[in-house]
Formats: sequence, structure tokens, C-alpha cells
Amino acid sequence: MTDEANEGTPPGLPAPAPPGTSALPEGTYDGTVVLVTGGGTGLGKAIAAEFARLGADLVIASRKEERLKSARDELAGLGGRVAAVACDIRDPERVAEVFDAAQDAFGLPGVLVNNAAANFPVPAEDMSPNAWRAVVDITLTGTFFMAREFGRRHLAAGAPGSIINIGASYAWTGGPGFAHSAAAKAGVKSLVESLAVEWGPYGIQVNGLVPGLMPHEDMTDDIRGNLDRANPAQTSREGQQTGQQASQAGQLGARQPALRVGAPRELGWAATFLASPYARFITGHTLVVDGANWQRRGLVSPEVMTVREQMGRGPFEG
Ligand code: NAP
Repeated sequence: MTDEANEGTPPGLPAPAPPGTSALPEGTYDGTVVLVTGGGTGLGKAIAAEFARLGADLVIASRKEERLKSARDELAGLGGRVAAVACDIRDPERVAEVFDAAQDAFGLPGVLVNNAAANFPVPAEDMSPNAWRAVVDITLTGTFFMAREFGRRHLAAGAPGSIINIGASYAWTGGPGFAHSAAAKAGVKSLVESLAVEWGPYGIQVNGLVPGLMPHEDMTDDIRGNLDRANPAQTSREGQQTGQQASQAGQLGARQPALRVGAPRELGWAATFLASPYARFITGHTLVVDGANWQRRGLVSPEVMTVREQMGRGPFEG
């Protein structure tokens, strides 16, 4: 390599392959039913789309019917069959009904993607008991109820299957400002390891999949607000991306070792690999798709700011 080639800004990790492409053979999921919780929005919808492109019959489940219906129409445009089932995963009876509906529509799901979760930033001292319970109940307990129902039905049927739990890297590091979600995701990661061993003998794989920073149009205002404070205006919802917004997106990427943020389809590709016939000996593993962002360390860290300061909150008043 010449000296000239080394001049200027390094390129970062290469851009992902184009939308609509896949590393797996066409039809890899023909005849497989894939159930994705939270599959009507954001990363869950992106994961569902990649399974659909490979031939899966999709079942997407979450609470809000309107969002589910519009995602169902969008996903059906990729060619496969799609069913949308309204469900709160905190309720084990509703969870059983989702599986009943899936079986009535297409058959027993062979793949479960536990993607639904709840999250919002809040300093621990301001967190209400209800806020704690809501996030832990959805993210951890709901994930367990879905996995349990999948496991029970597969054991009864003597059928192999694959579960993917969507996690977060603060399962390892802790998540200042997100104590509820980080604790719940640590539990989700632990479930991967417990259930992979319990259910391996029955042919059920259980893996975790952790996204890095992958902005998408369905991000909640709370999460968007957090990113905006770190990087003003970059994630604005309004209108088409302007030149200014594009350059601000670049700034957010510049804070990642990859020098770019992730594209949701990159998570979808990883999910389709983990549940595929090409990953049958991978179980109990949590794969991180974040361009090494969570391992980033400096010799000298930025000055400490309290979580209250980071969130623009005044002093704690009790
Ligand atoms: P999101 O936009 O907040 O979507 C959450 C989904 O979960 C929604 O579809 C929501 O639908 C569903 N949901 C929430 N509560 C539910 C309940 N009680 N029962 C059933 N469904 C429920 O999240 P996202 O950004 O796409 O993230 C997807 C996953 O990746 C999550 O597990 C998240 O923790 C993880 N993650 C994301 C990032 C990121 O950069 N975006 C980074 C790290 C980890 P309803 O409102 O219709 O119920």
C-alpha cells in the first residue's frame, strides 16, 4: 500500500451488501414458520423481512393492531404469507393464544425470535416501581413466557427448533441510565445459556443476538431524544434526509469504531444465519452485531457526567 493510500480519514468498516440480498440460498426457509415478537416495527420488522425473503411464513406479534396490520401488508409484499396476532407477551395465556393462532394459520413455528422489549432512559433514583416492573416484565418475563411456550410445544411434538433472543450489550457492561433494561437483558442472556443446555437434547437451539446502534424510523421519542442530546438533530423524524442530516448521521457513525452505524438488515442477516441449517452446532451463544462498539475503551475516558446531567435533568429533589 502506498503512503498516499494511507492519507486522510480511514474508511471504517465497509458498507453492507445492498437491501434485498442474502447470503443464504434462496428458499432456505421454505416451509418454515417464523414467529417474531415486536415484528411490526423497527429491528423486529427488519429481521422478519430477511426471513420472508428466504421463503418463511411469518407470524408477527405485539400489542398494537394498527402497527401490526401495516407491517403485515409491507412484509407480505416480499412474497410470503404473513399473519399478525395481537398479544401482550407479559400474559402467558395470550402467549399460548399466539402459538394457537400461528399453528392454525401455518403450523408450529420452527423459529421464534424474541425481539419485543421495552426501554426508556431514566436515572435509577427517579425510577418508579411501575417503570421497573414494566420493563422487566416485558423484556425478561415476556421473553421467558414465549420461549417456554415454544419449548413445551416442541417437546410435545418431538420437533426441533430454534430460538433467538434479541439482547443488548449492556447485559455485560451494565447500562447507566437504563438500569431496568440492562438488568432485564442480562437475564435474557442468561436464559439463552440455561435453555440451550436444557433443550439441546430435544433439538432446540437457543441463541442470543445483540444489535449495536441501528437507528430506525420506529425508535421511541425517549430513545431518539437520548441520541439527539448526544448528537443534536441527527435523528430528526421530519421529512427526507437533508444533506445536513446525512452529515450528522455521519457524525453519529464517527463515534463508532466502524465509522458508521449499523443497518437493520445486518441484524436480519445474522438472525437468518443463526436459525439456519448452516448453524446447527451453534447454541447457547450470543452474537454481537455492533462493529465492536461495546468493546471501545480509551486510555483516558471522557470527563464523568452524572446520568442526570446527560439527560438534562436538574438536581434530585426526592
Ligand atoms: P422498538 O422499536 O422499541 O420495538 C419494540 C417492539 O416490541 C414493538 O414492536 C412493540 O410493539 C413490541 N412490544 C413492546 N411491548 C410489548 C408487549 N408487552 N407485548 C408484545 N410486544 C411488545 O425496539 P427496536 O429498537 O426495534 O429494538 C428491537 C430489539 O432490539 C429490542 O429487544 C431492543 O432491546 C434491542 N436493541 C435495539 C437497539 C437499537 O439500536 N435499536 C440496540 C440494542 C438492543 P407494540 O407496541 O405494538 O406492543
